[in-house]
Amino acid sequence: AHSGEVGVYVRIRPTANFSQDIIECLPDGQTVNIHHKKDTKKPLCSRKIQRSSWSFRLEGVLQDVSQEEVYTRVCRRVVLGALDGYNGTVLCFGQTGAGKTYTMTGSTESYKQRGIIPRAIQEVFQEVQKRTEHTFSVYLSYLEIYNETLVDLLALLQSSAHPSPRSMVISEEPGRGVFIRGLSLHPVHSEEEALNLLFEGEMNRVIGSHALNRNSSRSHCIFTLHLESRSRTLSDAKYVTSKLNLVDLAGSERLGKTGSEGQMFKEAMYINKSLSFLEQAILALADRRRDHVPFRQTKLTHALKDSLGGNCNTVLVANIYGEASQIEETLSTLRFASRMKCIRTNPAVNEHMDP
Ligand code: ADP
Repeated sequence: AHSGEVGVYVRIRPTANFSQDIIECLPDGQTVNIHHKKDTKKPLCSRKIQRSSWSFRLEGVLQDVSQEEVYTRVCRRVVLGALDGYNGTVLCFGQTGAGKTYTMTGSTESYKQRGIIPRAIQEVFQEVQKRTEHTFSVYLSYLEIYNETLVDLLALLQSSAHPSPRSMVISEEPGRGVFIRGLSLHPVHSEEEALNLLFEGEMNRVIGSHALNRNSSRSHCIFTLHLESRSRTLSDAKYVTSKLNLVDLAGSERLGKTGSEGQMFKEAMYINKSLSFLEQAILALADRRRDHVPFRQTKLTHALKDSLGGNCNTVLVANIYGEASQIEETLSTLRFASRMKCIRTNPAVNEHMDP
């Protein structure tokens, strides 16, 4: 994508039951056509089969594509941009089980299967080594949003003596954009240090969700690398900052309210709410005649405000199942993806001066 356009990709989870007659990937590598037969049994009428087709054109369709290629095609440009001072965001969206975490974090089973986050970390530190004309500082944070509550996945490290969580607030400042006041920032000096923190955060997410009886696919996670660079040669007061957000969104499936009780009901309600506000914000952004975008209605859209409509290079991976049984969810994921494509952002280098 050109800068300013959201680059939208669809990734199909490999399956033995891939439904070729329903999901048709065109040889251009950018188009998916969905051919859906709906069996409508109307009372008094004879059985009727309704056929419908939809066509989605995206930046790229990733089918049988390795983790390495996904990183190179989707994410690399955004990571290199972040090192130059442009904010960047990579989002994974789709129903639970469609491959969001596999895409973002990857499988721990093999090095080859590691996902976007560890590869981005590796590239950042390789570039920091290479770009000898600059000195870089790298900080890391890991935020979870669960039922409209902000959880610092790396807070325990800092203040295990004070287990009561620090209160966090989403704030905005001119020149700094959106940030989370109270979220712990951890300085990292190597790939290994950063990977250890990623691992700690993942562990805290799992432990926390077990302890509180939560389902971790019901939360949104934002892993952020905060970069700051200064020129070694120019001894001026100018420096450049950027943020690289790597976001694993909660499963997008709409949970029915009937049948679920208590905790489940609450989760369903919050997820439906935050994802429908995300859709509303995206619709408002795509419709450029609308000057008010409802970012502040949920924590997710507020935290992602810069990534969606502001100063950021943004890409989205829409993860789908290739199976006929999931076609309704697949269609809704693809509709979300094509709306995302209409959004424009305004990436610009974040330059600052020492006071
Ligand atoms: P989600 O995060 O969307 O709920 P996961 O990433 O946990 O889904 O994926 C569900 C399962 O499918 C996991 O066991 C994962 O390893 C596997 N999987 C998903 N995508 C792929 C892929 N592209 N290649 C191989 N295995 C995959």
